[in-house]
Amino acid sequence: MKIHEYQGKALLARYGVRVPRCLPATTVEEARAAAEKLLAETGGSVVVVKAQIHAGGRGKGKVHKGPNVVARGVEVCKGGADAARDAAWRILGGKLVTLQTGPEGRVVRTVLVEQGVAIARELYLGMLVDRDTRRVVCMASTEGGMDIEKVAEETPEKILKVWADPVTGLAAHQARWLGFQLGFTKDQTAKFVPLLGALYECFTREDCALLEVNPLIVTVDGELLCLDAKVSFDDNADFRHPSWAELRDPSEENATELKAKEAGLSYVALDGNIGCLVNGAGLAMATMDIIAHCGGSPANFLDVGGGATEEAVTRAFEIILESPQVKGIFVNIFGGIMKCDVIATGVINATRKLGLRVPLVVRLEGTNVDEGRKLLAESGLAITPASTMFDGAQKICALVRGT
Ligand code: ADP
Ligand code: MG
Repeated sequence: MKIHEYQGKALLARYGVRVPRCLPATTVEEARAAAEKLLAETGGSVVVVKAQIHAGGRGKGKVHKGPNVVARGVEVCKGGADAARDAAWRILGGKLVTLQTGPEGRVVRTVLVEQGVAIARELYLGMLVDRDTRRVVCMASTEGGMDIEKVAEETPEKILKVWADPVTGLAAHQARWLGFQLGFTKDQTAKFVPLLGALYECFTREDCALLEVNPLIVTVDGELLCLDAKVSFDDNADFRHPSWAELRDPSEENATELKAKEAGLSYVALDGNIGCLVNGAGLAMATMDIIAHCGGSPANFLDVGGGATEEAVTRAFEIILESPQVKGIFVNIFGGIMKCDVIATGVINATRKLGLRVPLVVRLEGTNVDEGRKLLAESGLAITPASTMFDGAQKICALVRGT
């Protein structure tokens, strides 16, 4: 689960990490008032208006309104509160296209109005779980700013790494080593060590999957400040963080995935065109593999689970039927705890409601298989039965190719 920059910065601030003064705004007037407040409080003359979307690359990204490019995703405003108002007017409601959003872009609904800071150096800091070492890896680079992806690709040696011990945490000597490598003065290193410790504390306590500060800056006064914050949480830990519900922005999430989540289904949207309804994560993975093997491409991963009710199965099938990209459906069920007649009833219910506009291949095996097959046979639906998983995959791929 991703959160916005302004939420990430508020989280970091709670751990004692220094971030610039900033205020989120959802309307043009709010943005002007925020800028006025920040300018008065800081005595500065520059504010920065930043589009809040769940994707990076905003600084180089372009905000589109109709056929026109009206702003960048990050606008530096030197003309006081009125300039900030104007920037917010251009950005809000526009479609921001960055390297990370894809060409369709994202609609901007919130901006962050931030104190402009005088930057001496831009550095990169990031933390994530390294599966190879099973530790949190802390990465840093002197090449911070807007081209870090290029640095990682072309000169990976410029990304420094230290791995935190899961028991004792990130050690001060590791942070000092990084600080030295980053070329900090003694004074700056003394600030960097607790800053990195606080970030690590935040990462582990908040169950982050990714915590990225790009750039971490050195101001012209030699202070360290987190100028950007990209935080995403590990969804598997959401049961112990009720507060995440408030941080969620449904408009940034995949609508179908959200609907599936509400129905208690494990669903991941993919970019193919064969909808899959499967029980068990292992079988779901194998089904995607065999579809690919037969030359097709799955539209989703969907595990209805072992104990799914008729309603959940109905909901699952509705989600597949509603996806415009789906050109064929493969139901692949091995009934163990899940009963084949429950699946059949769910498929029939959903189809009665929404109709069936694409080919449907069904392979049922296991508990109550005869009842399930009978229900489907008597339903009047145009179903292509399959005897095995391979047979089913071949059939659905051929049908989709033919349509
Ligand atoms: P993104 O990573 O999405 O491009 P950032 O928040 O990193 O967005 O901003 C892009 C660039 O804009 C930064 O690298 C920095 O140079 C500049 N910038 C961002 N916030 C400020 C600020 N408060 N003051 C001055 N410059 C800023
Ligand atoms: Mg950034």
